[in-house]
Amino acid sequence: MSVEDFDVVVAGGGPGGSTVATLVAMRGHRVLLLEKEVFPRYQIGESLLPATVHGVCRMLGVADELAGAGFPIKRGGTFRWGARPEPWTFHFGMSAKMSGSTSHAYQVERAKFDQILLNNARSKGVVVREGCAVDEVVEDGERVTGLRYTDPGGTAREVSARFVIDASGNKSRLYSRVGGTRNYSEFFRSLALFGYFEGGKRLPAPVSGNILSVAFDSGWFWYIPLSDTLTSVGAVVRREDAEKIQGDREKALMDLIAECPMISDYLADATRVTTGKYGELRVRKDYSYQQTTFWRPGMILVGDAACFVDPVFSSGVHLATYSALLAARSINSVLAGELDEKTVLTEYEARYRREYGVFYEFLVSFYQMNVNEESYFWQAKKVTKNENTDIESFVELIGGVSSGETALTAADRIAERSAEFAAAVDRMAGGDGDDMVPMFKSQVVKQAMQEAGQVQMRAMLGEDAEPELPLFPGGLVTSPDGMKWLPYHPA
Ligand code: FAD
Repeated sequence: MSVEDFDVVVAGGGPGGSTVATLVAMRGHRVLLLEKEVFPRYQIGESLLPATVHGVCRMLGVADELAGAGFPIKRGGTFRWGARPEPWTFHFGMSAKMSGSTSHAYQVERAKFDQILLNNARSKGVVVREGCAVDEVVEDGERVTGLRYTDPGGTAREVSARFVIDASGNKSRLYSRVGGTRNYSEFFRSLALFGYFEGGKRLPAPVSGNILSVAFDSGWFWYIPLSDTLTSVGAVVRREDAEKIQGDREKALMDLIAECPMISDYLADATRVTTGKYGELRVRKDYSYQQTTFWRPGMILVGDAACFVDPVFSSGVHLATYSALLAARSINSVLAGELDEKTVLTEYEARYRREYGVFYEFLVSFYQMNVNEESYFWQAKKVTKNENTDIESFVELIGGVSSGETALTAADRIAERSAEFAAAVDRMAGGDGDDMVPMFKSQVVKQAMQEAGQVQMRAMLGEDAEPELPLFPGGLVTSPDGMKWLPYHPA
């Protein structure tokens, strides 16, 4: 069998896989992405966070396309949760980090959203092969060196690469080849039963695009507007109440809706969609878990393959795309010959676990139902060690920006200034044409100028130019364009 060779091969074309593939291909590396299904395909996880939309998607160069796709605008969340009987609402704009044009996210039909990200990967140079199920990793001693997969014609194929990414989600078994074990949380062991309705009520403007989350005796409901008329509705029940979603799913869902007065009211005039991709009533275990290690030499877990936390704060796509960004930085640094694998992947794992841990720890306190929202806000401040007010800490945590990463909040300004800077370098180098001064035709010289210019770019960022501090003692910092790691040298 002939073995193809790439710099990076990615298993899975969900948000995690397409993000890491794109961000590595954008640095000129050869990337193959293998996806088992043929897109568009159904997936749950429809409520996004601002950090994904304005941070990672801006870096991917896809933010404007998303803005034009007609997805409902999510300005925040509305909860009937905790001791207070009335619903309460938060807005992302309550935090200075997400003010103005970055104070919203979208509610997305995942078939459309994931297709946009995968098409974007293709257009940025990733070789994407759909209908290709990855079967196994290839190893050479300690190191993972490639993948075996089956192509759409049923032929077994093999590919080798410096890095193999498992972004194949929570159902695939590939992750186990990284070593360690998948530890399930004792605390979060719920089951979700969900379907789609036409004609459900909407919250009043301007929060009509908010996610509505309503606690009731057996668990909680999500109510996500996917268009003016289509709503995603899911009941999440505790493991002890699992029998409530067994048997006839239609009856089970209607009985649970009847248990929850607010959702009953919102669906009073609605009809359940019974045909097409939204016609099926689906059940998913949403048990929370994390793998004891996120990487081994040559292999990295991204997104759900590494860990998953209870969906109440819609953090899944954020964790998938954020971990993809961290993995891409790590790979870009190693492939550029600037840092070694162990150093960058230690940083990768520490940052991903920190973000996961913040959601996990906070969620434990969020399930205390006998307190009101002020107590949740205070808990968020405690968990994130934020210096802002309690409510800002809460909004930043659940907006996905509590890490303080500039790339997640100021990606648009960074992109603008990167473009300005690249244009300036090209002007100095005499452009790419035949009239270019010979010295500047050398890639090495051009690259060196670009590297030096990063320092300048940080200066151009004005207020954002404060040198980033490592998140962990002895750790790395992010390059100004957000695409690599840099060693930290205190001034
Ligand atoms: P996925 O989106 O699962 O993508 C993995 C891809 O890999 C798939 O396309 C799959 O076909 C492919 N694949 C699988 N096996 C193979 C193989 N062997 N070879 C090649 N390809 C393969 N998240 C949110 O952000 N907001 C929400 O509102 C939300 N609600 C949720 C509600 C519930 C009940 C649950 C369970 C989850 C929810 N999530 C939510 C989480 C969200 O679904 C996931 O976290 C997110 O999809 C993870 O992205 P990913 O790229 O890691 O994996």
